[in-house]
This record gives sequence, structure tokens and C-alpha cells, in this order.
Amino acid sequence: MQRLLETVSRAYAEADQDRYRLARALEISTLEMNTLHDQLRASEARLARLVSLSSDWVWEQDADLRFTCISDDVARTRLDAAAILGTACGVGDLVPVPGGDPAVYEALVAAHQPYRNFVFGTRATDGLPFYMRISGEPVFEGDDFRGYRGVACDVTQATLAQQQVMQLARFDNLTGLPNRSMFMNKLEQALISARSGASPFALLLLDLDRFKGFNDTLGHDVGDQLLRQMAKRLDALLGDQGMVARLGGDEFVVLSLLGDQTALLRLAGRMLNAVHEPLMLSGRPLQASASIGISRFPDDGQDAATLMKNADAAMYLAKERGRNNCQFFAAELAQLADQRFALEGDLRHAIEQDQLLLDYQPVFDISRGVLSGMEALVRWQHPERGLLPPDQFIGLAEETDLIVPLGRWVIESACRQIRRWRQAGLRVPPCAVNLSVRQFYAETLIPDLCASLARHQLDGGDLAVEITESLLMTDTEHAQQNVQSLRDMGVQIAIDDFGTGYSSLAYLKRFPAHTLKIDRSFVRGLPANRDDAAITQAMIALAHNLGMDVVAEGVERVDQLVFLRAHGCDKVQGYLLGRPQSAEQFAGYLQPPQDTS
Ligand code: C2E
Ligand code: CA
Ligand code: CA
Repeated sequence: MQRLLETVSRAYAEADQDRYRLARALEISTLEMNTLHDQLRASEARLARLVSLSSDWVWEQDADLRFTCISDDVARTRLDAAAILGTACGVGDLVPVPGGDPAVYEALVAAHQPYRNFVFGTRATDGLPFYMRISGEPVFEGDDFRGYRGVACDVTQATLAQQQVMQLARFDNLTGLPNRSMFMNKLEQALISARSGASPFALLLLDLDRFKGFNDTLGHDVGDQLLRQMAKRLDALLGDQGMVARLGGDEFVVLSLLGDQTALLRLAGRMLNAVHEPLMLSGRPLQASASIGISRFPDDGQDAATLMKNADAAMYLAKERGRNNCQFFAAELAQLADQRFALEGDLRHAIEQDQLLLDYQPVFDISRGVLSGMEALVRWQHPERGLLPPDQFIGLAEETDLIVPLGRWVIESACRQIRRWRQAGLRVPPCAVNLSVRQFYAETLIPDLCASLARHQLDGGDLAVEITESLLMTDTEHAQQNVQSLRDMGVQIAIDDFGTGYSSLAYLKRFPAHTLKIDRSFVRGLPANRDDAAITQAMIALAHNLGMDVVAEGVERVDQLVFLRAHGCDKVQGYLLGRPQSAEQFAGYLQPPQDTS
């Protein structure tokens, strides 16, 4: 009994101790709990403060990815939380950003994995774009997926800036069309899919005709406007039938999935028409034209570089065939393109190596029947290809800016020749040189001209310059200054190839030229062709009214001469009265001064 009592009282004592320990423990744990609680609350408050400091907001989604909760912080953005709550992907579309591939996001979410920093784009309540960056982690209860929760923030400014940079890198600034790098990218893609499915496609390379001259005469602003207009027209025409890009300068290219030759021709025809539509730029009526070269996969090339090169060769053929037309690539063209490339290299040396020469063609005064002038026409004595007429290299020289040194050479050589004839005791009427538009705008034109005249002891009156009518359209101060300087020096100015260019008669009135040269395309039909006859008569009357002399070009037959004389044309030039010929031969037309008695 005594033992039992001892045991019981020990048990009580132990129980008391336990109770005490328990009570202590409880007391401590409540204390700890309270501390922990306080810490938690403090930390929550800190977090809330931090969140409120950052542009982030917090969100939760259910297992169907519907938004169930969005923190108030979203109110600071342009986003409307009410519109998003309850919707599944109310945040809009995933925007591909570097390192944020939408496919990766889809895969992570499908596998209930955490994800970081994906960017979504949507429209905010104000209708403007809104971009947010979202990170999320899955929520589980036991093994059950319950949804996602995470943070998001407004990255609209940064994303727009980034898109602009990407736009700049892939699109042409001037026209907004895809640029060369984006186009080459698309071309590679087209090649990959065409190879696997062997589906054909074509490149249509379009180059505006005479754009450089145009740019030079009307100024770069107007040139830019023209490019923009053309880009707009081509883009509208193509729609979703193909992709049009600007390669640079006045070159555009279309990638078309049409394989059929007739369909391609029709497309090219529509492109040419679109370019050819008249337009008004800075109040001037203008009309552009273009040349198109087409290469096709797989026949004309298996890789991007070859296809581009061959479209280019075809485009040059279109230029040679009179512009405003389109040509398909053909194998022989590759050879021509190589030649052209070689020619460009050769032309650079032609001037230094003295391969250029001048022929002279006489111009006669009809009523007096005497030599009244001459025109210097350049030729190229090519070491392998023989004597090349100007049509085969002037265009090339204009494109490559070689026209400036070439033109300088022409002026200098003509002056030297006049001086030689004079020294041989001959009377030499004014000699005309052709100036291309580019040359006319070169700063060096007047200084070069003065230098040549001075070097050979000539006057301005010994020279005349011929410029084409596209130059008439110019209003630029520089051009006007050059015209004025030429006039002041006594250099006669003639308007060449009149009636064939872009310009309208209105420009003629403002342009102080001495002579109008009627293009030989009008003279050809004289006198039988009634249109040509009427036009020629009108030009003569117009020129005389404006106080200009008239020269008819390309007179080959007597009946043409008779008609021109009857209708008051002042001067004639053409095979009938003298072909272009060497300086030695031309000396035969020149008379010694009158008083040789
Ligand atoms: P253009 O200024 O119209 O020169 C007259 C062209 O008509 C010359 O051709 C001449 O040979 C040709 N011609 C003359 N009479 C007749 C004729 O009765 N019938 C026919 N069918 N043709 C005739 P060319 O020498 O081949 O010159 C062609 C063009 O090359 C010139 O046309 C001119 O625009 C350009 N050119 C010639 N020399 C120069 C130059 O030094 N500088 C520049 N920038 N261009 C030049
Ligand atoms: Ca001429
Ligand atoms: Ca002419």
C-alpha cells in the first residue's frame, strides 16, 4: 500500500511536472507564435510595400487558368482588373520577345511548371497597346494542380521601344516595306519550303527608270516621295499575293508563289501599270516607269544569290529593251551580266587609258545653207570589244557616277580640238557637248568648264551644252545658278531630244535656253505622218514664240529637209548632211577665215 501510494504520488508529481512543462511549453509556443505572427505580418507589410513600390502586381489563377484574384496594384496601370477577372487568357496574346518563345510558355504551363518573364500584349481600356511581363508558379494541394499564382508588371514602354528597334532592323525606314535583310530571310524560308515540296516561286526585280536623273533634278525630297508612292502602289497591288520589299535605292523586289509564266507576266504587267500611273508630286505632274526582271525557282537558280543575280540580269535586259517592260531570265543573260560587270570595271580605266574619243557631227543653217555648229559625240574604243556607241556605256557611267569624270574629259577634249583647228587656221563654229543631268548638278561643272576654256584660250561662245528636258523641271537653286553662270559666260544652252521626256511645255517657258532640238523620232515620220507633221510645226512655233532657235535632229531624207525648211525650222542635223565623224574628217567642213586673198 505504501508502495502504491508512493507510486501514485510520484505519478502525480511527474504529471504536475509534465503539466508544468506543458504549460511552459505552451506559453513559450504562444509567445513564439505571436512573435512569428508579428514577423509574418511585418514581412507581409514589407512585401506589400515593396510590391507597391515596384510596378508589379500579384495574381492567382484557378486550375483552368482563369484569373481569380488580382492585387489592387494593377489599378496603377492602364489595365482594367475587372475585365480580366474570370477570363482564361484575358491578358492577351503572347508576344515573342528574345528569350520568350510562346511555344516554350505553352509547354511549361501544360506541364504545370513554373515560368519566368513571358511578355503578353493586349489593348488597355484606352484602346492602346499594353504589354505586361508575367512570371508564375504552379499551386498544388497534395498532388492536385490548383492553378497558378505569380507577379506581373507593365513593360509597355520598353516593349514598344524594342519593337521599334526590331522594325528598324527589318523594315525600310522610308517606305515601311520589308528591307533587304528581312527579304533575304523570307527568300531563304521560301527556298526551304519549296525544296521540300518542290513548289516553284519567282522573284520579280523592279527598278525605276531614270530615277537617278529624276532624283537629281527634282531634289531628294521629291525622289523620296516618289519612292514612297511607288511602294504604296506595289504593296496595295500585291496584297497577300506576294511580298514586296525595298532592296535600297530605287530597287524593289517581289517574291511571288506564282509558277506559271503567263500568270507572272500578268502580275509584272500590273506592276508596270501601277508604276506608270501619273502622279502629282509637290504640285508637279509626273509619270514614272520601271523595268522588271524575273527569275524562277528552280529553273533559274537553286539558291538565293543566284536567283537574285539572275533577276538582276533580266532586269538589265528590260532596260536595254527600252525600259517600261519586263523580261524573264535566260541562260544567255548570265553571260551578258558578266560582260556588263566587266564593262563597268573597264570604264573606270577607259578615261585614264585614253580609250575614249569624240566624233563631230555638223549642224547646218537651213536658210543660209552654211555650217552653223557641230555636236561632239563620245565613243569608246574598247580594247576587246571594238568601237562602242555611247548608248552602251553612258547609262552605265550615269549609274556609277563615272559620268562626271567622263563629262569632264569630253569638255576638255572638245576644247582642245577647237583650239587645234583654230591653230590650223580654220574657222570653228560653236561646238555642242552633251551634259547628262547628273553632270549638270556636279559642283565642279562650272569650274571645270572655265578651266578648259581658259587652258585652250577659248570663250564661252565657242561652246554650247545640250541638256535633256527632264532638267527643265528643276527649280533647285543650284541648277538655276548653273544655268545663269553658263549664260553669263556666253555658253549657248540647247534642250535636247525635245518631246520625249517627262516634262510638260509649261516648264519650257521658265527655262532660259537658246535652242530647242526636236527629237529625231518626230522627224522620222515627216512629211507623210500627219501627227509628226503637226507636232513638228507646233514645236517650231512654240520655240520661236519663246525666242528660241530650232534644230531638227535625225534628218535623213530630202523630203524631210524640204518640209522643215518650208515650216521655218532654223537648223538641221542628220545623216543626210553629215554623219558624226572623226576630227580629221570633220576638218573638211571647216573653212579658213574669209580673207585668204
Ligand atoms: P543625241 O544627243 O540625241 O545625239 C544624236 C544621236 O543621233 C547620235 O547618236 C547621232 O549619231 C545620231 N544621229 C545623228 N543623225 C542621225 C540621223 O540622221 N539618223 C539617225 N538614225 N541617227 C542620227 P550617238 O552618237 O549614238 O549618241 C547617242 C546618245 O548618246 C546621244 O544622243 C546622247 O544622248 C548620248 N551622248 C553622246 N555623247 C555624249 C556625251 O559626251 N555625254 C553624254 N552625257 N551623253 C552623250
Ligand atoms: Ca545631243
Ligand atoms: Ca538628241
